[in-house]
Formats: sequence, C-alpha cells, structure tokens
Amino acid sequence: MGKKTILQWLDEHNVEFTEIAQKIWDHPQIAYKETYASDLQKSVLHEKGFTITSSVAGIPTAFVAEFGSGTPIIGLMGEYDALPGLSQKASAIKEEVVLDGPGHGCGHNLLGTAGVEAVIALKETMAMENVSGTIRYYGCPAEEVLSGKTFMAREGVFDDLDCALTWHPGKSNIVVNMSMQAMVSIKYHFKGITAHAAAAPHAGRSALDAVELMNTGSNYLREHILDGSRIHYVITNGGLAPNIVPEDATVWYYLRASSREHVEDMLRRVNKIAEGSALMTETKVSSEIIANVYEMLPNNTISEVMLENMNECGVLEFTQDEQNFAQEIVNTIDPGVVRNDQKITGGTEVILPVKNFYFPHMKGTTGAGSSDVADISWIAPMGMVTTTCAPAGVQFHSWQATASFGSSIGYKGMHFAAKTMALTGYDLLINKNSILEKAKKEFLEDIDGKPYKAGIPNEVKPPVQ
Ligand SMILES: [Zn+2]
Ligand SMILES: [Zn+2]
Repeated sequence: MGKKTILQWLDEHNVEFTEIAQKIWDHPQIAYKETYASDLQKSVLHEKGFTITSSVAGIPTAFVAEFGSGTPIIGLMGEYDALPGLSQKASAIKEEVVLDGPGHGCGHNLLGTAGVEAVIALKETMAMENVSGTIRYYGCPAEEVLSGKTFMAREGVFDDLDCALTWHPGKSNIVVNMSMQAMVSIKYHFKGITAHAAAAPHAGRSALDAVELMNTGSNYLREHILDGSRIHYVITNGGLAPNIVPEDATVWYYLRASSREHVEDMLRRVNKIAEGSALMTETKVSSEIIANVYEMLPNNTISEVMLENMNECGVLEFTQDEQNFAQEIVNTIDPGVVRNDQKITGGTEVILPVKNFYFPHMKGTTGAGSSDVADISWIAPMGMVTTTCAPAGVQFHSWQATASFGSSIGYKGMHFAAKTMALTGYDLLINKNSILEKAKKEFLEDIDGKPYKAGIPNEVKPPVQ
C-alpha cells in the first residue's frame, strides 16, 4: 500500500519538481556559490515541514533538511553546482545563453531536485501511515571540485546515518554497483626569482622551468603506476610575459587510482618530483591540497533493493518529439562515441534506453571517474543509480549535456530517479527483510576496520568568503 501511495503522490506532483529543476538550470552557479539552488530547496523543504540546518560545516550553501525522529536514519544526497563555461540553451545546436557563462553540464539541477522530490514524497507517506524513523536531505555544494561532501563529512554530519541513497543523471537506468576512483586534487606553487629575460637571465630562477620539469618527471612516472590510474594537470600560472623570468608558477594536478592507498602512494612520488624540480631550478615549492576523496564502496544489498524498486517504478517512456530531439543531439556527436555508449546497455539502435540494468558482477571493478559522494560510502552503506536523462553518446561536461539536462528528457529521468529512491527509502524505513542489518554487515566487512578519515588536512578550510 505504501509504495503505491508514494508513486501516486509523485505522479500527481511531478510538475512542481520539474519547475524547481528548471529554475536551477536557468540559474546555474558554480561550486560554493550555489545560493539560488540551496535557498530555493531550503524554502521548499521548510514549507513542507522539514527542519533546516543551514551553513553546515561553515559552508553557506550546505544544508541539512530533516523530518521524523528516531531510527533508522536515511539520508538522500543532493548536489546543485554548475560548471564554468558550459552555458547552453535546451537546443540541439550549440547556442550559449550567456557568453562563457556557467551551465548544468553534469545535470546537478536534476540531481538535487530528485532528492528533494523523494524526501517530500516519503514524508507525506510517513505522516499518512505513521511510519517512524528519520529522513534527511543533504544539500551538498561543490561536487564538481570534489570537496563539498568531504568538508561536511569531516564535521561528522553523516556519522549517524544508517544508510545513504544517491543517484546521478545518466544515459541509461543502471544500479551502480561498481566503484569510482579515489582522487587527490593538489596545486604545486613554485617560487623563483624574476629578472630581465634578455639582459640578465643569469640572475633569474624560473618558476615555469620548475613546472615544466615537474610535468616531464610526472609523465615518466606514468609508466610505473597501476593500470587504470590517471595523472592529469593544467598550468594555471605560467608567468606574465616572455621577457620576464617567471617568479611564480603553479601547476594543478589530479591523481586518481582505485584506492586511497594507491593515490597516497602516487602523491608521495609526485611530491618527490616537485621537490626534485625545485632543486634543479633553485626555486622553492609549496603544495596545497584542494580535494582528497575515497574510492566508492558499492553495497550489493542496497543495490539489489534499488533494482527491485526501479523495476516497480514502471517504464520510463519518451515521446516521439523527445526521441527526435535526442537524435538531433546525437547527430552532433562522433558515431563511434555513440556506439560505445550503446554497447554498455546492449542496444545498437536505442539512444534513449528505458530498460533497467544491474551488473551484479561489477562489485570489484572501478570506473575511471571520481566523486566526493564516495566519502559517504565509507561512513554508511550507500546505494546509487543512474537514469536516462540524456541520449547515448552525450558526454558529461559538454554543451550537449547541458541541453539534455534542461529538456523534458532530463526531467523524466529525474522523476524516475526520485521514484526509485523514494521506494527504496520506504523499504529502508520499515526495514523490510532486515535490509539494514544485511547492508551494515556487508559494509563493515568492506571497510575492514578502517574508519573514515577525511582526506583534506584539518587546516584546510572550505574555500568560501
Ligand atoms: Zn560533473
Ligand atoms: Zn555530476
């Protein structure tokens, strides 16, 4: 009875949540500046009877909304930050709304809103059926810089959770039962001595030389890291003009590997390369950790429950107009890239997959990307799904992604994710078939006695003014 009520409530109210996601898509704001989205979601949740705790972990755009009391405590994770430079209309041709402006190229306008939608539906059912327990929506800023949730976790705001649920807009309906890579984001600042590059180069010590030597060293390191690991960098400051020996230079690195131990080991070696480069050039180097996230711990128990519930949500249907729009977007993408995406869900023709997938054998495998939501999976058992919010072939962080996530395709996928999370949340609240005990047992085996410890050093504060 409870689940039917939840699905019915969600169908009857989906327009108001489409509007919230559309408004956030219309007001994209980048990491730590998401005031519009967090204020809007806070006011909606407050109006529905949730208790709001604002400015969590000293971050003005982080908040927690809570309803109910006692255990179990179920947390739904939300995100709402946009990406710089990805402004785009909901159109199948590349058209910016604001020149070089931000845009929701990762669909976080949908990500957070589905969580809000799901907790409100759950709250309505809990109130109607006298279901006890606590539900929370976590408004988490700054996923795109991979640190919002780590700062929140460092403050302990997730510590009492019995289970966490999340999702991400995707290109198919998948229960994500695989890991994501652990990652360190770190900047190396080199300090040299400025000089006239023609008249007195002997008096100068180039910080840019140090950066270039460091990158050369790191590129040699690539051969000696584990398969699947990644090293990427950008030079964010390479000097001011060719005729001035650069006094300051900065290079920003991401190091990724399948576990935090492996990332820490890569970091140890890259730190040595930085020191070596400073030694060679008689410059000084300092480093600054921007983010440090765990690898994701999937949970078979929660994944199975999420699949069961995804299958109970009916079928995600797309109209002919939506399929035509998807085809127009796909026409702008390399066919090889599209085919590669289609392989994942087994279809060669379908660009908007509606079938639900679960790959039970995926636990133990790792995707190339990283997310700060992985930190939560080390604090409580966590389940995650993706749903079809964009056509196969669309790459996240692209104009095609921004367009898709601001279209009815994105909103349909969002409602489907909200339904899946709300039904799963209901099963967890009533602890159907002792799911929480099983999930917790699996979680404790996986963390193997290693308690969560935030990777960002204590002295590093959230980058908010
Ligand atoms: Zn992203
Ligand atoms: Zn994302």
